[in-house]
Amino acid sequence: MSDDLRRRLIRLYAELGAHTEPECAGNRCPKPLSCCAPMYCDLASDFAREHWGVKLEPGWHPTLPFMGPAGCTVAPHLRPICTAHTCEVNEHGCKRGDEDWTDRYYGLLEEIGRIEEQVLGKRGIWPA
Ligand code: SF4
Ligand code: SF4
Repeated sequence: MSDDLRRRLIRLYAELGAHTEPECAGNRCPKPLSCCAPMYCDLASDFAREHWGVKLEPGWHPTLPFMGPAGCTVAPHLRPICTAHTCEVNEHGCKRGDEDWTDRYYGLLEEIGRIEEQVLGKRGIWPA
């Protein structure tokens, strides 16, 4: 049961990542990846170890241990806060002018949160 729920979590986080990543793509971001910071890499490292038994290995980047040449190297379910982050949600609590996107976003967060409470005993993403 727990393994099934973990597999479901991995799929849901992949879906959440696929939902949020395009928000940063192309020329949408004025300062690409400026939202990444060492403290978020540290949080991902702690979360991955504590809840998934995964030790994340640092790469070559001088300040962001898990940044690779083509973006973050960490699987979406191991870095919940990063996967869920978009500037619009961070600043406005929604994607302005796109109710469908916002509904899907919060739907995924809610389903992920419910499963994480069962499997991990806590939610990986703080409510926006
Ligand atoms: S979340 Fe914001 S700052 Fe980070 S990459 Fe996306 S648009 Fe850029
Ligand atoms: S997205 Fe990856 S590189 Fe950026 S802060 Fe999160 S863990 Fe670090």
